[in-house]
Amino acid sequence: MSAKIIDGKAVSQSIREELRTEVAALKGRGITPGLAVVIVGDDPASRVYVNNKKRACAEVGIYSEEHALPAGTRQEELLELVRRLNQDPAIHGILVQLPLPDHLDEKAVLNTIDPDKDVDGFHPVNVGRMVVGEPCFLPCTPHGVLELIRRTGIDLTGKRAVVIGRSNIVGKPVAILLLQQNATVTVCHSKTRDLPAICREADVLVAAVGRAEMVKGDWIKPGAVVIDVGVNRGGDHKLYGDVEFASASQVAGYITPVPGGVGPMTIAMLMKNTVQAAKRAHGLE
Ligand code: NDP
Repeated sequence: MSAKIIDGKAVSQSIREELRTEVAALKGRGITPGLAVVIVGDDPASRVYVNNKKRACAEVGIYSEEHALPAGTRQEELLELVRRLNQDPAIHGILVQLPLPDHLDEKAVLNTIDPDKDVDGFHPVNVGRMVVGEPCFLPCTPHGVLELIRRTGIDLTGKRAVVIGRSNIVGKPVAILLLQQNATVTVCHSKTRDLPAICREADVLVAAVGRAEMVKGDWIKPGAVVIDVGVNRGGDHKLYGDVEFASASQVAGYITPVPGGVGPMTIAMLMKNTVQAAKRAHGLE
């Protein structure tokens, strides 16, 4: 293997340690960052994500409270809870765990969160601020992707970056953030023609597709930075990325593993946004 492994677990751990120090200092000034996590129904994957977020809060010193609502919760009840949390001074960040049960209007719920408490960065106000480069909460996974690239020490200016995937939560925001770092960005999707040829031009390749091991080693430019956002459960119950790690790691310069790459960064960035929200609420940023 020639590629250097970008260890997302280690990077996220060091971010959490920095945050723990920062939270301790804030507490010394009487400020305890607070995160409310709202979960509706009993989706097992959502339960795991919520538990991980609560554990991360405890580790960093953030106050967290969980609002677990039954699957049959009505839209208005959920909106009422969000509005109440918007008004709660102990809560600086509100996270509604997705997906919501089908009868609930996800967009309406996310749009009800106060943009100043929108630590997931999904509210259109924050998305708009991100696009025009104003201070905002960056969405956690794309922010984590950029942070991992930044830690390779590679200057993105003038580099060719290719993003596979154009979802609102990963592909599009990753492309915008790469553009803001002066990369020349191509965004690919399911209708893109000759994807392997486009990928071969990439100095930085970000895969956010949701198809196990779709990106092969011979799609990768020698020495490229490869960031694998995909999380795919194989028939053997193991996790696979969107990139075929065994072949890609022979060619890439840097590569993230799955698990242990982008995944841990998402929660670290959520913690970072919550601390930032608390600081802003107290005029410290
Ligand atoms: P979506 O399903 O919303 O988007 C997938 C994107 O991939 C779409 O834009 C789609 O194109 C594109 N695509 C699908 N098939 C192909 C193909 N054959 N060739 C090229 N492009 C294709 O997924 P998400 O963006 O939400 O997530 C992507 C992956 O990242 C998933 O595996 C998900 O589990 C993972 N993920 C990981 C996170 C983490 O913390 N590590 C957080 C969030 C997601 P089109 O638009 O044309 O349909």
